[in-house]
Amino acid sequence: MIDSHAHLDMHEFDGDREAVIARARTQGVSTIVTVGIDLASSRAALKLAGEHRDIFSTAGIHPHEAASCGGKDLDEIAALAANDRVVALGEMGLDFFRNRSPQTKQVEVFEAQLEKAALLKLPVIIHCRQAHRELLEILVPWANSLDRKSGLGVIHCFSGDTGLARRYIELGFMISVPGAVTYPGAKDMAAVAREMPLDKMLVETDAPYLPPQPYRGKRNEPAYISITVAGVARLRGIDTDTVSRATAENALSLFRIPKKLEKGAPCR
Ligand SMILES: [Zn+2]
Repeated sequence: MIDSHAHLDMHEFDGDREAVIARARTQGVSTIVTVGIDLASSRAALKLAGEHRDIFSTAGIHPHEAASCGGKDLDEIAALAANDRVVALGEMGLDFFRNRSPQTKQVEVFEAQLEKAALLKLPVIIHCRQAHRELLEILVPWANSLDRKSGLGVIHCFSGDTGLARRYIELGFMISVPGAVTYPGAKDMAAVAREMPLDKMLVETDAPYLPPQPYRGKRNEPAYISITVAGVARLRGIDTDTVSRATAENALSLFRIPKKLEKGAPCR
């Protein structure tokens, strides 16, 4: 299993980070992608990736952090991304639900990161809340300007309906299913997990956020990805092995991880 999206650098893990990573391994998690949300966390994520063979990182500015992001920060993000252990840019995107940064600034920082990703030929990890129309207005021309027509990135924690999922898939994106798929009320998410092509699906914890049903209200961690995998398998009426293998292969291919491993990653 691969947890395609966690935030291992966050303070929620300060007391027991190594134990959390060890528990994930015990549960059969082969790789964790730890995702940066600003410059400091992107640096911290890369440090973790440098210390653990089975952890890779990303570098990016989350829309919540867009307000405090300057041009120099974006250059630094791009510089971090030159490292072999950094497998994507993000998370980036638009959040018009919480609006913690002004919308115009969110758009500006998002577009700047997309431009860097195109130059660096890296996939992007996209966060979107209540802004899919605006997001697509930006993503469609961007996607059309690229040579590659698949593997552009992933819509993380996807919470839209199946029609919207199809649009993103056609555009060249994968869709990532979080632990919330196990919530009884998550009807759209369940439909997406059931109906979309398995070869376009990733699974993620978004730890420490969004724990699956049995752990609601508690801290989430990568070991719980097995609950999400089981939830998807149940929805599709197939075995968990098929789901874990497919989603792991998708993550390896999107983030081009085998190639990175060949280059001789630092190992602890
Ligand atoms: Zn996240």
